[in-house]
Amino acid sequence: MAPELTPPPEIVCTGLGKTFEGGTEAVEALNLTIAAGQTTTLVGPSGCGKSTLLRMIAGLEEASVGAVSIGGEAPFETLKRAGLSVAFQDPSLLPWRSVRGNIELALKLARRPVDTGAIDQLISLVGLDGFAETRPAELSGGMRQRAAIARALATKPGLLLLDEPFGAVDELTRQQLAQDLPRIWEAQGTTTVLVTHSVSEAVLLSDRVIVLSPRPAKIVADIQITLPRPRTTEMGRDKAASNLKEQVFAALSESMAAAQRPLAAQ
Ligand code: ADP
Repeated sequence: MAPELTPPPEIVCTGLGKTFEGGTEAVEALNLTIAAGQTTTLVGPSGCGKSTLLRMIAGLEEASVGAVSIGGEAPFETLKRAGLSVAFQDPSLLPWRSVRGNIELALKLARRPVDTGAIDQLISLVGLDGFAETRPAELSGGMRQRAAIARALATKPGLLLLDEPFGAVDELTRQQLAQDLPRIWEAQGTTTVLVTHSVSEAVLLSDRVIVLSPRPAKIVADIQITLPRPRTTEMGRDKAASNLKEQVFAALSESMAAAQRPLAAQ
C-alpha cells in the first residue's frame, strides 16, 4: 500500500555547519527555522555555501556540527521514505529511461500510485509536451532540468528542495516556470527551499528570502516577501517587488563589502 502523504514539515537547522576535508569551511554554525508550507529562497554570492546548506537539509551531505530536523526527523529518514524531493542543477536523470520513464520510476520507488494522466499534466506544465517518450540525451540542458522538476513534483513530497533548478532554462521559459510552479507546490502545500542567484526570481517565488554572507555562509538578512499570491511575471515589475529586490541587493552588497574590508585594510 502507498504510504500516507505527510503534511509539509517545519525545518529546523540548529548550529548547522560544514567544514570539508581539506579545511574549507562552507557553512558556519547557523540557526534557521523554516515554517511549514512556506517557500524560502537562499541567495548569496557564488561559492558562499548555499548548495552545501541545501544538500545538508536534503540529507545528501553530512553536517560537521549541529543538526537538521525535518518535522522532527533526521533528513536521511525523510529522504528514505520519499518525504522530500530534490531537483538540482545537474538533473541526474536515468539516461536509458524516457522523461515519462524517469517520473514513473520515482513514483514506484516512493511507492506512490503511477497516474498516467497526472504525469502527462506535469510534463505539460513544465513545457515538455511531445517529449514524454524522449530520452535525456536527446533533450537540451534546460529541458532535462524541467524533466527533473516534473519528477521532483510527481511524488507530492512534503519538502521540495531546488538548487538553481532553472539554471540552463531559457529566459522566457524561466519566467513561465517561475509563475506556474509555485501554484503547484502551493496547491500541494509543500515546504519549498530553493537556491537561486537571481534576485528577481527569489522575490517572485518566495515568502521569505534568506541572504547569506560570502563563505562561510552566515545569515546576514532575513526578508519577508509580502507580495500577494498568486504571483505573476508582471507583479515582479511592480513598485512593491522593486523595493523588495532593492532590499535583497542592499543586503548582498553590504555583506560582500564587509567581507572585503579586512582585505582592503591590509
Ligand atoms: P554555492 O552553492 O554558494 O555556490 P557551494 O556550497 O557549492 O557554494 O560551495 C561552498 C564552498 O565549499 C566552495 O568553496 C566549494 O568549493 C566548497 N565545496 C563544495 N563542495 C565541496 C566538496 N565536496 N569538497 C570540498 N569543498 C567543497
